[in-house]
Amino acid sequence: MHVFHNPVRTVAGLGALAALPELLGERRAVLLTFGEAGALGLVELLRLRVGDRLAAVIDCITPNPDLADLELLYPQVWQHRAEVVIALGGGSVIDSAKAMLVGTPSGQFHEIRRLLRDGERFVPPAVRRLIAVPTTAGTGSEVTPWATVWDREQQRKHSLHLPETWPEAAIVDPVLMRSLPDAVTLQSGLDALSHALEAIWNRNANPVSDALALAAARSILVTLPALLRAPDDMALREAMAIAALQAGLAFSNTRTALAHSLSYPMTLRFGLPHGIACSFTLPLVARLAIGRNAERDAVLAQALGPLASAPQRLERFLEDLGVRTQFAAYGVDEAGAQAMLEAALQGDRGRNFIGAPA
Ligand SMILES: [Zn+2]
Repeated sequence: MHVFHNPVRTVAGLGALAALPELLGERRAVLLTFGEAGALGLVELLRLRVGDRLAAVIDCITPNPDLADLELLYPQVWQHRAEVVIALGGGSVIDSAKAMLVGTPSGQFHEIRRLLRDGERFVPPAVRRLIAVPTTAGTGSEVTPWATVWDREQQRKHSLHLPETWPEAAIVDPVLMRSLPDAVTLQSGLDALSHALEAIWNRNANPVSDALALAAARSILVTLPALLRAPDDMALREAMAIAALQAGLAFSNTRTALAHSLSYPMTLRFGLPHGIACSFTLPLVARLAIGRNAERDAVLAQALGPLASAPQRLERFLEDLGVRTQFAAYGVDEAGAQAMLEAALQGDRGRNFIGAPA
């Protein structure tokens, strides 16, 4: 028996932003976004759709949100009368928005900090709903309940996850991704590829997540290099956006696995962008996954082709896109890499990997 559950209403494709007024209805919203969204014209595109239902625009979200950033942001968001938070941006914006949804008894961020650090639960006195509007094709955060929250003070990474942190709706419109710099197209695209493969070499995989992950992986392996050669090709942008959404839906039910578990120390210690940190080890993780389980091998072969040479092909795919696939290239020696691998297998996400110790 298999269960697949995803409560996010998803509107995707060229022009999908047109669905925003209906999704918002008569409610008021605070828009959370990144600094350049205004200059890129993205805020205006939204404002045209929702007019004075926009209570405020907060455009200070930076990559890899830290507890300290969210603590400052929290009262800014809650001071406005609004039932909805609209997140317009990449994974960092959508994850920051998730941390803003739950009201706290004190009205401050302290209770959420204690929840993340010590698992201390509380009953939210109020909750806001999230409409996620990704401007990158990769994160999948628009269809998952998890927010990655960094804690540089304690050198840790938390995953915020509450019943209230599922987005209510996701609008995936490739028009909003047209101005993405190539480096971000690459990083977010590789994040999506990682989500797809991680959903396959995963103990929680099921036939529904497999179908989504397979469609995503097969598309990304062809679409991403083509899109990087022709960044203005809107058909390719749309294909990449749909593939990233499929990968997000797949891992919304399986969670991620070893490549993501390995990525967190690489981001925390070496500042590696998430999309590179969670994809440069894909050939290594593929080698560890292949041969573990005949059923998983069959699905992996559909994603990657003949398995005997699949890790080498993945390596070539990444190197051709300019991504180095050895730890040494990032300043981690062999002993350091081995220690990181062992720790990652014990990690929360690492234990989802089919090759992790039982
Ligand atoms: Zn990821």
